[in-house]
Amino acid sequence: MGSAAVYHLSKAGASVIGFDQHHPPHAYGSTHGETRITRLAIGEGAQYVPLVSRSHQLWRELEQQTGKQIFSQCGGLIMANQGNPFLAQTKASALEYSIPHQELSGSQISDKFTVFAAGPEVQGIYEPSAGFLRPEVAVESHLKLASKQAADLRFGERVKSWSASGGGYQINTDKGSYFCKKLVICAGPWVRDFFPEGRELFKVYRQLLYWFAFERNYQQFKQMPVFIWEFGASPDDFIYGFPAINGKQGGIKIATEIYDHPMSPDDFQRKATSEEKRKMFEQYIKPNLPGLMPAPLRTVSCWYTNTSDNHFIIDSPENHQQLLLVSACSGHGFKHSAAIGEAVAQWADKGSSEIDLSAFGLQH
Ligand SMILES: Cc1cc2nc3c(=O)[nH]c(=O)nc-3n(C[C@H](O)[C@H](O)[C@H](O)COP(=O)(O)OP(=O)(O)OC[C@H]3O[C@@H](n4cnc5c(N)ncnc54)[C@H](O)[C@@H]3O)c2cc1C
Repeated sequence: MGSAAVYHLSKAGASVIGFDQHHPPHAYGSTHGETRITRLAIGEGAQYVPLVSRSHQLWRELEQQTGKQIFSQCGGLIMANQGNPFLAQTKASALEYSIPHQELSGSQISDKFTVFAAGPEVQGIYEPSAGFLRPEVAVESHLKLASKQAADLRFGERVKSWSASGGGYQINTDKGSYFCKKLVICAGPWVRDFFPEGRELFKVYRQLLYWFAFERNYQQFKQMPVFIWEFGASPDDFIYGFPAINGKQGGIKIATEIYDHPMSPDDFQRKATSEEKRKMFEQYIKPNLPGLMPAPLRTVSCWYTNTSDNHFIIDSPENHQQLLLVSACSGHGFKHSAAIGEAVAQWADKGSSEIDLSAFGLQH
């Protein structure tokens, strides 16, 4: 979020200082692991469709400016059993915004995309405009352009505190003190350090990404769409994944979401344990994508920052109208980040954004 914000703020001519305790793109927060799913028919709610639609335009503009490939439109498939609310909302969003899509039965899914063992209970929605983004390339591109646009980017500098002062904000870092008229906080899983009164709003969870090698069907894995599959009744009965993008030896990335216990983003980022790897294969991979090998090639952990209703918070806390808290979180924020960066710049300039962000208020 921060890289898109500094890019759009500096593009709009604002005088910007951006701080990061690390050197982005990096692997310590929530924006690493090669790929992120993007889709227009948003199953989390139709209020997100304007943000992702604008982001799809902005990713293409960013690609043109940098010559880098950021957005691969390989199509996307949402699968679940009948009556699943995420599938129903995906369809509702597609219908409300006239997003081209196809409804598929379990047998149509297995015929069209042979890597999935989809039974008769499965229903799917295929969206050709969906695909995946390259988060590290996007972050690097936004930051390079922001720097060219004279944004002052200070990496390896940790913000220790902020306070209202003289009609603006005093920022204290481990290297100095600064004054700004407007403050945008995009701290990902560290958001609670900046907003202690809202600590109970955000819970941070470690999530694992796995890359599995092919036992067979490499070509089919290469040509498959991105997918999200809620295959059972429990909230943990969930996987999502991407086509093979790293060649025959590179495997494919598949992940689930586990909410066992909240952690701190400064906790050591462990790779998957043997038990986690075994469970991932036996419970999630083997029954659903039978052409993969049991032992993952590699694993990486990443932080989810969840609100209680899994919706974003993009708002100014009470008595801080010159401060914007941007927590586009709960494991589905990246696809919206380009438009959120643009909205931040509009907020800084005019006090509001063209895309209505009122659904993401602190009171929702
Ligand atoms: C495993 C995983 C899979 C996901 N899959 C998808 C997906 O498929 N599609 C999708 O749209 N979204 C997805 N998401 C969500 C998306 O990636 C995140 O919502 C988004 O990247 C969050 O970005 P952020 O800028 O808020 O956080 P971060 O990327 O964590 O950035 C926060 C930054 O703030 C800096 N910072 C924090 N505290 C300080 C401080 N005190 N001083 C200086 N700097 C500080 C950090 O160093 C960091 O660089 C996924 C997330 C994860 C973890």
